[in-house]
Amino acid sequence: MTTAFITHSDCLGHEMGPTHPERPERLSAIKRHLRASGLMESLRCLDAPLADAADLKRIHSAEYVDLIFAHAPTEGYVQLDPDTLMNPYSLAAARRAAGAGVLAVEKVMAGHAANAFCSVRPCGHHAMRARPMGFCIFNNVAVAAAYALEKTKLTRVAIIDFDVHHGNGTEDVFSQPQWRDRVLMASFFQHPFYPGSGTQNPAPNMINVPLAAGSDGAAARRIAEEQWLPALEAFSPQLILISAGFDAHRDDLLGGLALLEEDYAWMTAELMKLASRHAAGRIISMLEGGYSLEALGSSVVAHVRTLAA
Ligand SMILES: [Zn+2]
Repeated sequence: MTTAFITHSDCLGHEMGPTHPERPERLSAIKRHLRASGLMESLRCLDAPLADAADLKRIHSAEYVDLIFAHAPTEGYVQLDPDTLMNPYSLAAARRAAGAGVLAVEKVMAGHAANAFCSVRPCGHHAMRARPMGFCIFNNVAVAAAYALEKTKLTRVAIIDFDVHHGNGTEDVFSQPQWRDRVLMASFFQHPFYPGSGTQNPAPNMINVPLAAGSDGAAARRIAEEQWLPALEAFSPQLILISAGFDAHRDDLLGGLALLEEDYAWMTAELMKLASRHAAGRIISMLEGGYSLEALGSSVVAHVRTLAA
């Protein structure tokens, strides 16, 4: 069985201005590094479909989804929040980014792929139930988790978020009482740091671990070993979703942590062991942050090489 690589050219059309760090070149860098590593030939490349409104409304308010669909500009930009804009391609890109996760769930559940990496943008984990935020329009990983829980036989899914920023949008969705028994979210994040959330009264299904600026891969691995893995083992997820942000890398200028490629490979391998015990190996990883093109490309290679091993 192979690893699926899911993306779409529409995700390259979304851009938020010439100096914005969340830029189309991120996806090109990932493809370039995967090709150069020789890994690309072993992956099953699939085009992400457009998520439909019903998929998005499982976790976003209907008013919010309708507003975004209606707001897409035909030229120029529409500003959604201080860091997030829509251009004429953004609605399609955001629907492809969310649709990638839906397709990944279908492929992995059908046994057509062992696991999947979704190389998509805009990223998703800051998008809240009724609000865009921090480069994110729709919460891609949350859409995938809700799809898995409501459209397949699965009753327990875990979300691991190793982006340098706290996944406040994902927490906003799955802290709601109707999801708490079915979703466990485990993350670490630089703190204090954008968006400032994560440490105040988290719901019982949230394993939120703040990390001081400058923390390295050893600190991250300790968190995974001592806090994430025991909680995941007890929860016994039937599917593991990863909010795979690579901006905790030492060379990333937006974050202040110091992870390296081997740390991403190690976390991936640990999650694969857990998935093989509880989830028939099912892992779906979705790109979040990562803004140094070199560090992003080489970190994704380390992550995907482990998934595809
Ligand atoms: Zn981030």
